[in-house]
Amino acid sequence: MKVANKTTKAVDLVQAALSKIEEYKYYNIFISINADSALQQAAKIDQRIANGEKVGKLAGVPYALKDNFLSREGKTTAASRMLKDFAAPITATAVKKLEEEGAIMIGRTNLDAFAHGSSTENSYFGPTLNSQDQTRVAGGSSGGSAVAVALGIVPFALGSDTGGSIRQPASYNGVVGIKPTFGTVSRYGVVAMASSTDTIGCFANTATDTDLVMSILSGQDPKDPTSLSNFWQNKPKPDQSLRIGLISDFMAEGVDPEVKDCINHCVSKWQKNGHTVENISMPILKYGLAIYYIVQTAEVASNLSRYDGVRYGHRAQDITNLNELYGKSRDEGFMTENNRRIMIGNFVLSSGFFDAYYLKAQKARTLLINAYNDVFKKFDVLLCPVAPSPAFKIGENVNDPLAMYLEDAMSVPPSMAGLPAISIPAGTTKAGLTVGAQLIGARQSDRTLLNLASELAKEPN
Ligand code: GLN
Repeated sequence: MKVANKTTKAVDLVQAALSKIEEYKYYNIFISINADSALQQAAKIDQRIANGEKVGKLAGVPYALKDNFLSREGKTTAASRMLKDFAAPITATAVKKLEEEGAIMIGRTNLDAFAHGSSTENSYFGPTLNSQDQTRVAGGSSGGSAVAVALGIVPFALGSDTGGSIRQPASYNGVVGIKPTFGTVSRYGVVAMASSTDTIGCFANTATDTDLVMSILSGQDPKDPTSLSNFWQNKPKPDQSLRIGLISDFMAEGVDPEVKDCINHCVSKWQKNGHTVENISMPILKYGLAIYYIVQTAEVASNLSRYDGVRYGHRAQDITNLNELYGKSRDEGFMTENNRRIMIGNFVLSSGFFDAYYLKAQKARTLLINAYNDVFKKFDVLLCPVAPSPAFKIGENVNDPLAMYLEDAMSVPPSMAGLPAISIPAGTTKAGLTVGAQLIGARQSDRTLLNLASELAKEPN
């Protein structure tokens, strides 16, 4: 990652990123671009360097921001019509921390509206194209951020991951993506999806860059009571001879054979490096998707109830009464997928069905957490694919929500248990599509995962 200094100018770094944005416009990566302000910030940094003043660890490094992070800079749309004109009154803690280290936000990236989705097709602003094959999806929901890094526009980008939204697009575009331990990074100022599993992480080209960005983002924030005290400075487990458990349930039938080949290729590399790899079956994982799509939708329904057309966000016109104002504003402001989740969420929380769905899902979630705890007595790290297939075709799953949800089967279980999980490039298919390997660890073992990843990932430039 190139940082501004006496020989590298921040203005040049920002200028180069802006030209690449122009070059790759067709991919529909950005919802808005921050050109003028980014160039001004860069000029200030160059001036400080020229004056011999101290600058931050990311001085002059341009980055892209998923458009569900609030910032006083520009609009925060969450890729929705509901917030398309929303100028946030606050800046997210994560964004502030990057600003303090001199990083420069050059634009806001596309996502599935309110982060609901696995392809970035549910965006009010249209889909983002995959970095390797323009007929395929970018993955989602943080598709824009993943493609911005994959195409070399920026060296890193921020994303949010509730059930796979960083890992899956990282896998589909061949970059490193981290969903840290729940609570590692403050969620303050990020549009809430499912508050018990929302996490903030990033995309980068290497495990080393990822580690640097996460070391800046992590730490306790009084504005987010679930944020953890900073554990990033703790030393990771020494990386000779880790015990890796290969989750056999996710290497079974139904998983694309080329995906399995890529994972097996990683296995042999790690074995050569002195780690042990053993199969482990976790039958409870087959309930992961059901648990997630009950708990997550319940939390979505609750979080999205604030958009009523009264306080902020889209307001419908030509209204005759209050109910019509609520109904029409929400109907016009949300995408079909948002509405689907609100309806499922309210259903599983409704008095007749609460015990049968929501309560049962929370009990099953506890069993899932216990199962992971048991497995981590025997293994340091778990390994499996990020998704059952490489990037699918644009339009292939849009009218089949269940098929779309199945894409998440491997990424949602660690989210429900608050565990760190990363996606690292594991190879490419014959058709040239990238495949990611997913490493999962016990809480706060994020750096152990990155260390192991660095044995495979591309080396720093
Ligand atoms: N693809 C998952 C979903 O649609 C995860 C989304 C996310 O992590 N924001 O819910």
